Amino acid sequence: MASNKKILFLPGDGIGSEVMAEVRRILEWLEASRALGFDITEDLVGGASYDAHGTPLTDDTMNAAMNADAVLFGSVGGPKWDDLDFSLKPERGLLRLRKEMDLFANLRPAIVFDALAEASTLKPEIISGLDIMIVRELTGGIYFGEPRGIETLEDGTRRGINTQVYTTSEIERVARVGFELARKRQGRVCSAEKANVMESGILWREDVQRIRDEEYPDIELTHMYADNAAMQLVRNPKQFDVIVTDNLFGDILSDEAAMLTGSLGMLPSASLGAPDGTGQRRALYEPVHGSAPDIAGRGLANPLACILSLGMMLRYSFDLGSEADLIETAVSNVLSEGLRTADIMQPGKAKVSTSVMGDALLRELDEIGA
Ligand code: NAD
Repeated sequence: MASNKKILFLPGDGIGSEVMAEVRRILEWLEASRALGFDITEDLVGGASYDAHGTPLTDDTMNAAMNADAVLFGSVGGPKWDDLDFSLKPERGLLRLRKEMDLFANLRPAIVFDALAEASTLKPEIISGLDIMIVRELTGGIYFGEPRGIETLEDGTRRGINTQVYTTSEIERVARVGFELARKRQGRVCSAEKANVMESGILWREDVQRIRDEEYPDIELTHMYADNAAMQLVRNPKQFDVIVTDNLFGDILSDEAAMLTGSLGMLPSASLGAPDGTGQRRALYEPVHGSAPDIAGRGLANPLACILSLGMMLRYSFDLGSEADLIETAVSNVLSEGLRTADIMQPGKAKVSTSVMGDALLRELDEIGA
């Protein structure tokens, strides 16, 4: 029998522990019903870690993350820690994990469940059935490039500087992630940059095209200027399958795509590192939302973004695609039955708490997946 998968749970702050509790129940269901084994360990991160240890991430927890098969992260932050020194802020815990695990590819799916098509600000016919994946380069580009800073010029005025830098190897590895994903989807990649005005964009376009020609001739590759991609995402988002783009444009395009789906409480994400000798990648999965201090501790949080993040973990880290499908179908069915947490509430639907949404999912899993 295959050895158990090692999962590190980092619930963090605010609603993190509430939504992760529901994920744990789904994992227990998978163990009981699908003969799967998971070794789950749990640790502190963010403000919770600062309160206990004086740092948002201890070295021990960092080591545990490096040795896990996958990390599931809740959320960090809250007003209690707003006045801490920058280096101690809860968010630094997440940034350290991303940096030391070298998580260079951020995957943000934008999926519209039929039952929620009305929640989008776009017309239902534009977004119903939408299923796109944005792959954002996460560790390079203008957010990290040197030189950077603010300097005072001789005449006393100031100048702010950031530098967009990409090397071929940074472009190639994120392009490969996009092409691999497309192979498991509809086989189409759109690469977005600004090759019309930026040299780094020209290099990006050339390298992505070369990787496609040499290694992924079966994938259909198109190139689009990032400003046009932003426009096309609201005009006709279903034209896309996988979008691959850099850190800056990905930051913007993934948030834009997220809003097509209507709710922060529904959005999962994955961040992947380089494959090791066995093909296994370091990986961290997390809902897109934050710690929602305004609703924390009241049973109001929508657990679906975190549960869908577990689905991504099963699919991308553990190659358990049919179990991931099962979770997505259960989510879709529960929504179709009319159950809603407060954030996605619509007239005529049944408003439920975090744990009642979890109960409904387990019932649904029993029905469709036993
Ligand atoms: P947020 O995502 O926490 O909340 C924004 C709004 O959406 C709030 O009204 C909240 O109640 C609601 N919301 C978010 N997730 C929800 C869910 N699952 N169910 C129901 N409603 C939900 O963003 P914010 O208010 O800007 O930030 C709050 C704190 O979270 C800050 O300290 C911020 O730094 C931190 N944050 C952390 C992460 C992370 O851990 N990755 C990401 C974003 C923000």
